[in-house]
Amino acid sequence: MHNSLTTFIRELYGTQDFIPLHQPTFSGNEKSYVNNTIDSTFVSSVGAYVDEFENALSSYCDAAAAVAVVNGTNGLQAALHMAGVTRDELVITQSMTFVATCNAIHWLGAEPVFVDISDKTLGMCPFSLASFLDEYCELSNNICFHKPSGKRVRAVVPMHTFGHPVELSRLVEVCRNWHLTLVEDAAESLGSTYKGQHTGTFGRFGALSFNGNKIITTGGGGAVLCKTKEDGAKLKHFTTTAKLPHAFEFIHDEYACNARMPNLNAALGLAQLEQLTNFVDKKRQLAACYADFFKGTAFKFVQEPQNTRANYWLNAIVCENKRSRDDLLKYANESGVMMRPVWKPMHQLSLYRHCIVHDMRNTEWFAERLVNLPSSVPSLK
Ligand SMILES: *Cc1c(COP(=O)(O)O)cnc(C)c1O
Repeated sequence: MHNSLTTFIRELYGTQDFIPLHQPTFSGNEKSYVNNTIDSTFVSSVGAYVDEFENALSSYCDAAAAVAVVNGTNGLQAALHMAGVTRDELVITQSMTFVATCNAIHWLGAEPVFVDISDKTLGMCPFSLASFLDEYCELSNNICFHKPSGKRVRAVVPMHTFGHPVELSRLVEVCRNWHLTLVEDAAESLGSTYKGQHTGTFGRFGALSFNGNKIITTGGGGAVLCKTKEDGAKLKHFTTTAKLPHAFEFIHDEYACNARMPNLNAALGLAQLEQLTNFVDKKRQLAACYADFFKGTAFKFVQEPQNTRANYWLNAIVCENKRSRDDLLKYANESGVMMRPVWKPMHQLSLYRHCIVHDMRNTEWFAERLVNLPSSVPSLK
């Protein structure tokens, strides 16, 4: 089985060389746009590609605004700051995520609270969220408090694992009932839709990442999708040192940060974005090939949830148990076909072990069984 799988993957990618988990594809205008920035000398914080990239992103996702930033983690942190998250508050998220989600919360002086994931989406379970709120929280003047600690709960951050959208309708409803701000960690799900609407546009903010391993890359980079133009303008102001427009004076009106994406990176991003529709199509074809291969085997291929169209950023399978997972990982990696387990759950890291957790049943079950498969955009017909 292991051998037929690695052989199958080698056939998909048409190579006997090492096969990484995910590498970028540069088959469009990348060199020409990047060269333009060098020729013009506008490689840094000023330049037309940043505006063009932001406009192309908001129109692709049908968002009111998009603000390009230096990376996804910074984008998420800026979004949470704009949502009002501050010291000693609580932000509800999922334990099955990349550590950046929690670090963004931590550096605002707030603390993550972990609820379980759904076995249908691998992302935040709306029932686990609702049961945590019903059991431990109360509303006072439309402000949500965690009763045992007396801390304010400000926001909810679901993450669309491997590009599979969470159950957004229900999450939006729970957040509305509890007066909590929804901020999506959509770092992995650019191009994925839920009921035809792009992930990252359901919450007040949605953070994207363009790190080298994501579906499109700017080298390093990210963006924040905003529900309103006003939020877009405020977030842009905050991520660009909060400088007031003036012909020559330097006046800044809030404690801000410098998280602006350089023009050089935006040029690369614009060229990548032009190919995104094609990347998603190819990745969906690849996913269909994998799904076919795993039919009738002991491994369960992770399919897109109902009502969604996933970008299949990273393909995944569920193994029977930890032992069979480890056997597969060992065989594949020794054969030069990269596979990896999912992240260790956040509530099991020493960093976040003290945080409040609510029912980690699915999280812990999947953490022992998930394996990611090579998922670079293939050159399929
Ligand atoms: C990649 C990623 C991020 C962070 O993005 P960077 O651009 O690397 O800072 C955040 N959350 C999740 C779930 C990610 O996969």
